[in-house]
Amino acid sequence: MITIDHHIAKEESMHPKATGEFTSLLHDLALSIRIISREVRRAGINDILGFARTSNIHGEKQQKLDKYANEIIKKTMSQSGHVCAFASEEEEEIVMVGHNKKSKYIVLFDPLDGSSNIDVNITVGTIFGIYRRAENADDSVCDMKDILQPGYKLITAGYALYGSSTMMVYTTGNGVHSFTYDPTIGEFLLSQANIKIPKFGFYYSFNEGNYFLVEEKIRKYLDFIKTPSDDKKYPHILRYIATLNADLHRLLHYGGIYIYPANTKNPGGKLRLVYEVNPLAFILEQAGGRATDGSRRILEIVPDNIHQKTPLFMGSPDNMDVLESFISD
Ligand code: MN
Ligand code: MN
Repeated sequence: MITIDHHIAKEESMHPKATGEFTSLLHDLALSIRIISREVRRAGINDILGFARTSNIHGEKQQKLDKYANEIIKKTMSQSGHVCAFASEEEEEIVMVGHNKKSKYIVLFDPLDGSSNIDVNITVGTIFGIYRRAENADDSVCDMKDILQPGYKLITAGYALYGSSTMMVYTTGNGVHSFTYDPTIGEFLLSQANIKIPKFGFYYSFNEGNYFLVEEKIRKYLDFIKTPSDDKKYPHILRYIATLNADLHRLLHYGGIYIYPANTKNPGGKLRLVYEVNPLAFILEQAGGRATDGSRRILEIVPDNIHQKTPLFMGSPDNMDVLESFISD
């Protein structure tokens, strides 16, 4: 039995310049995830017991869960003093936190991914990524270049899933590891070390409702993967949850492909680069998969704003090869 705190400490100790800061940051993150998980688990019960959104007595419960999760992460992760800024899906602006030498980290997160699924009891999650601010950081507040770094500079990334069990999956660039929460002892226990995506998978995830809104070359690819083949690789099987990190989680285990291309409704794509796509692309690459925006590796894109959107194509290496034979010019 390996607890997540154990695992994180061991990961950090393998770095020559380990200070323990990182361990405390990830420890705080795991704590936020436990708290969010508790609230997600009670969401249905709260409705039954009359914690209605209109109730004044339970003011806290009026908040939508994604706002609540946002507050939890900010509060929990500010405590250590190691965070200089947050960028969150729920915050229009960057949230500045610490401004001394100790505050060396930028934390990006989507507090509740797939939040439209919460009311119908379908898996939701939390996505996070952490950057170290620029080497020459002094006592000043961190600036935009500390925050708008390309994804390959992430020092850690991960996600939590509030599904049939609560899980936390993370990487520090040394493989992808998953932990399952055991509520009876209040610990995340290692469930799988070094997750690797299959080289090829039979599944695809795409919002088929957008079929006529995407470019023709993408429709041709979709037609191809739906056409029966003698080698039985096709037709692919469609699976689509619409909680991005739940779709990624299945992709990691079963392989295949996930696409959210630009379409006529969302010409720049719909998913957010900084706090949704980058952390998941880092995880996926660590597991042996690939993620692109159709032409560029996701992790090499330099964002110019925290809420920037991107098209996304990600999956098993062999599936990505097939896709690219259709979409690259
Ligand atoms: Mn999201
Ligand atoms: Mn969200």
